[in-house]
Amino acid sequence: MRIGCPTEIKPQEFRVGMTPDAARDITARGHTALIQAGAGLGSGFTDVDYVAAGATILPGAADIFEQAEMIVKVKEPQAQERAMLRAGQVLFTYLHLAPDPDQTRDLLASGVTAIAYETVTDANGGLPLLAPMSEVAGRLAPQMGAWTLQRANGGRGVLMGGVPGVGPAQVVVIGGGVVGTHAARIAAGMGADVTVLDMSLPRLRYLDDTFGHVFKNRFASAGSTAELVASADMVIGAVLIPGAAAPKLVSRAQLSDMKPGAAIVDVAIDQGGCFETSRATTHEDPVFEVDGIMHYCVANMPGAVARTSTIALGNATRPYLLALADKGWRQACEDDPHLLAGLNTHAGHLTYYAVGKALGIDV
Ligand code: NAD
Repeated sequence: MRIGCPTEIKPQEFRVGMTPDAARDITARGHTALIQAGAGLGSGFTDVDYVAAGATILPGAADIFEQAEMIVKVKEPQAQERAMLRAGQVLFTYLHLAPDPDQTRDLLASGVTAIAYETVTDANGGLPLLAPMSEVAGRLAPQMGAWTLQRANGGRGVLMGGVPGVGPAQVVVIGGGVVGTHAARIAAGMGADVTVLDMSLPRLRYLDDTFGHVFKNRFASAGSTAELVASADMVIGAVLIPGAAAPKLVSRAQLSDMKPGAAIVDVAIDQGGCFETSRATTHEDPVFEVDGIMHYCVANMPGAVARTSTIALGNATRPYLLALADKGWRQACEDDPHLLAGLNTHAGHLTYYAVGKALGIDV
């Protein structure tokens, strides 16, 4: 199969859909890897790296879309990319169609077979192609929060680990899922005093069994959340209610109970955020202040560490990519119901129930 990987064109997107390692696997199995010139540069991969892995470099996106039987990407196709998709072609990437009627309409009109990373499932009920980005965002959150806490950046001027004779930063993580657990581990590793709040007792039991010696945990009631937020130097928002906007767990009024210059890192901002005062920011201008509290609310945090994110995503997509290449999408999806769960559109039909429900389209 001819598998094409164009350069990402969404603003500030430095990841790439195929690593040289993946290109090597693909070509070793007799398939063709077509890479747009310069596609890997944002993640530190040169065209020479891809050529050494057996890939063919093509000059423009139009060449990739024209020649490839399957397109592998990171972000949803932008309007000019959607215009190049066609029936019989497979698209494998993040799509997030539910809030995006324009993209859904264009994919249906093109007839492309679109498999969305975010709806592929695994045997444990998880989302294996979303998890790596949650791991990245979670591990990055204390790093960005620590930067925000520095005095020159508007913060309280508190060092995460303290020093002998001076206590560490108090860090509270709301939501102890993938993001929250990784955030708590890194914050604790930096020497902070960390407490994770979650509403799920099974999850709290897991956190206690596995990380009880690394960080504390508390049941997330309104009372415990208010108490811990008021005493925190840094609060990391990491809740998720699948398929719904993030619940607002900290109100504007509660900011006045917080320590002046405390840092909020609202990782859940891509679902609307779990602080009333959050609004999405960008890597160029990541932090804003409300009532003396510094807010870091970047909606695409993994982009800050594009190389790590690209490799992590590539590790996760690899088995599905190879199955799609070896067997074709029909057989690969027939053999693996979890990959089939990723199928969102085919030949002008919407094939994913939740998207149809959100957009009022028959599935
Ligand atoms: P997850 O499902 O693994 O974890 C969510 C946790 O929140 C669960 O343990 C759940 O029990 C808990 N929870 C739900 N409601 C709660 C409440 N009211 N109080 C306390 N805990 C509650 O999800 P995840 O993968 O960790 O993702 C967390 C959020 O981070 C999501 O909104 C996700 O979209 C977002 N995210 C953002 C970025 C970014 O760049 N900003 C990157 C990756 C993920």
